[in-house]
Amino acid sequence: MLIRNLRNRADVRLEGSEEVVDGRGLVLLPGFVDLHCHLRQPGFEHKETIATGTLAAAAGGFTTVCCMPNTEPTIDTVGTLQHVVEIARQEAVVRVLPIAAVTRARRGAELSDMAELAAAGAVAFSDDGSPVASSSMMRHALEYANSFGRVVIDHCEDPALTKGGAMHEGQVSERLGLPGWPAAGEEVMVARDVALAAQTGARVHIAHVSSAGSVQVIRDAKRRGIRVTSEVTPHHLTLTDEWIERGAYDANCKVNPPLRSEGDQLALIEGLLDGTIDAIATDHAPHAMADKACEFEQAAFGISNIETAFASLMGLVHAGKLPFDLLVDKLTRSPAAVLGLDLPADDWVLVDPDAEWTVDAARLHSRGRNTPLHGHTLRGRVMLTICRGRVVYDALREAAIAS
Ligand SMILES: [Zn+2]
Repeated sequence: MLIRNLRNRADVRLEGSEEVVDGRGLVLLPGFVDLHCHLRQPGFEHKETIATGTLAAAAGGFTTVCCMPNTEPTIDTVGTLQHVVEIARQEAVVRVLPIAAVTRARRGAELSDMAELAAAGAVAFSDDGSPVASSSMMRHALEYANSFGRVVIDHCEDPALTKGGAMHEGQVSERLGLPGWPAAGEEVMVARDVALAAQTGARVHIAHVSSAGSVQVIRDAKRRGIRVTSEVTPHHLTLTDEWIERGAYDANCKVNPPLRSEGDQLALIEGLLDGTIDAIATDHAPHAMADKACEFEQAAFGISNIETAFASLMGLVHAGKLPFDLLVDKLTRSPAAVLGLDLPADDWVLVDPDAEWTVDAARLHSRGRNTPLHGHTLRGRVMLTICRGRVVYDALREAAIAS
């Protein structure tokens, strides 16, 4: 494929087809890497499958996705891991890197066979959805994973503080009369993990940082030379708890950790700018309609966002809050570095930073239609995604037909 007249570089020739693409106004980037998504297979195929989730990833410009192990069964044995790898080999359109559970069935009682799982292809370990609640268990997990070069990714939540919490605890939760999930519920666990990383010398990776206090704890830890890395989601960077009020208790805004205040949002952006936060990861969490079509307090946590991630983040670029090159780094090189990986040389995404489009939940490739952005117009669009040298998503063709 020959792409001509690109905005960011000279004409580019990619292996594969003989097609010539008009790249005027477009920018060619390395394929995006998502450290954190939920593909739901095995066990929850009514929410998402590896096939639909990776199609959605391709439409979002992601060519590598790391899938979380909170499936049924949990990805906590070599057999289940190999099952996921085999389905991905047959049905995935982008690269799928499985993350295995830290503890058996994510119950926090016994470590999984981490060394065997790593040897079988687990790129990292996490009990995501739950924290590793026992500090002693977490200490052993960090030491053990470190001994064979893997990182533990922790979902930081102190269940004693967050039990029953449906949204960020603050003025908005008070006005809405909803039970709060306080920022401290995250921050105490981040502080604990930092202390354990310092104690063991092993690196810990903090999933979906959501509060200003967590950013500060991680910033201080990095200054002290403690081995900690972290990620933030597109929704925590672009939405706040006020969306729940404005959306009249829109359950599609219910996510864990919860959307927080504007002050938290600004601190998260600051954390990206100064390197406290290493990567942007989607935490794409597709759900079935029934999981969200209920009272806010009963609704499942999660947002289906892998297809809207780039465009919603471009909103920060257009608003002058985040440099474009930094956004690209946080979606490509930096998340790969968190896992110690290099970017594949044959994965590319072609984007139009200025194209506007309106999100239509019914047209998402994901089975999860649970997006709070339905009906919103975003500026920035993925036009073409190439994985392993093969076109896996093509909006150019659609655009050509429409024009
Ligand atoms: Zn999580």
